[in-house]
Amino acid sequence: MIRDPLIFAATSDLAGKMRGKAFPASQLEKRLERGIGWVPTNALITCFDTIAESPFGSLGDLAIMPDRDASYEIDFEDGTPPERFILGDITTPEGAPWLGCTRGALRSALDRLHRVTGLTLNAAFEHEFQLRTDTPAMGEAFTLQGLSRRRAMGEALVAAMAQAGLGEDTFLKEYGAEQFEVTVKPAPGLASADIAAVLRELIHFTARRHGEKATLSPILDPAGVGNGVHIHMSFLDESGAPATHDGNGPCGMTEITGQFIAGILAHLDAIIAFAAPSAISYTRLTPHRWSAAFNNLGFRDREAAVRICPVQGTDPASIARQYNFEFRAADATASPHLVLAAVVHAGCQGIEDALPMPEATEEDLSLLSENALAERGLGALPSDLATALDRLEASDTVRGWFADGLVDVYLAHKRGELDHAMSLDEEARLAAYATVY
Ligand code: GLU
Ligand code: MG
Repeated sequence: MIRDPLIFAATSDLAGKMRGKAFPASQLEKRLERGIGWVPTNALITCFDTIAESPFGSLGDLAIMPDRDASYEIDFEDGTPPERFILGDITTPEGAPWLGCTRGALRSALDRLHRVTGLTLNAAFEHEFQLRTDTPAMGEAFTLQGLSRRRAMGEALVAAMAQAGLGEDTFLKEYGAEQFEVTVKPAPGLASADIAAVLRELIHFTARRHGEKATLSPILDPAGVGNGVHIHMSFLDESGAPATHDGNGPCGMTEITGQFIAGILAHLDAIIAFAAPSAISYTRLTPHRWSAAFNNLGFRDREAAVRICPVQGTDPASIARQYNFEFRAADATASPHLVLAAVVHAGCQGIEDALPMPEATEEDLSLLSENALAERGLGALPSDLATALDRLEASDTVRGWFADGLVDVYLAHKRGELDHAMSLDEEARLAAYATVY
């Protein structure tokens, strides 16, 4: 059959979906210069294909400007056409950054970090996902048999990641039924979010080519495990040397690391609307699921919103290189760019406000009363998306971090999604998210 290769110019949007338009590969140079037409109201398309109330209506024009450095071509060598796509920024027709561009939002957060501290961020997003089947296998948590049953798919995924330059790290049969996890190596801030957005697509491409349906939905069944997105972070100084660890600091944190984490925890109840932005995300964010239910720091404790991760060995230089902390409250219904932007801004706020370094909790916080938690500056995370969106709306500090109008567009988008999700009963709601993510 005749074929002219198409390149999909993509924006990773507010819903964490990769949307855009394709053009013939032969026109790449022209499209790099002129972009491809886009529409403001597209930012209000929810994950369910409903359009939330749009402040833009039918007005206005934008362009997706492809970024030559974020171009991907993956050939599965199975007779299907290679997947070709290129990430871009959304601009106005005059070329100015557009408020709803998630890459732009992340770039300005990373600029703020650099301005405030002289540091740059390295990050790596870990993803958990499940294969959807009516007959999930039992007894396969972390087993060789569980991995072996999906080895072909896992090896294809790792090969696709290598072709895409995502920095493949590990692939594992996670604890849950038909649950897997894939990790990547750390990369500079913007690239780390691009990698996360691309990896989600590769998981779906690969599963589909193996006759499977993958889902990254935060939870399929309230009685089962959740699928988390854990964001590992560390800092580098101007010379590229590690700058996160201080052997004499509490839990090994430098003062800046401690203030940065304190900022995340202080603003978590507002930024959680970016990290856990679906109507079912809050079922995952409950105690004893190894996710996050409180705004606490954990030292090598997986029941924490932010965790100081383990390091291997005793060599101080190696420890400084490995040392990192992990934000555990996100899931794959979040835009990787927006959640990282929100986390970085919150961290910068903590540094600018010189917040005290947080103490790591060591006990089961679900056993403490609200007062006992409050005495230690801790609190439960919002228990549903509507509350999380209200907290975001009420935080002038958080709104001030983003381009004018972004938070309002985001709130409208998410409230539109919530209306649809809540028109379904719980079983249908869980199934709907499992289908679209
Ligand atoms: N599945 C857990 C979550 O929802 C994480 C388990 C783990 O620590 O890997 O975040
Ligand atoms: Mg895991």
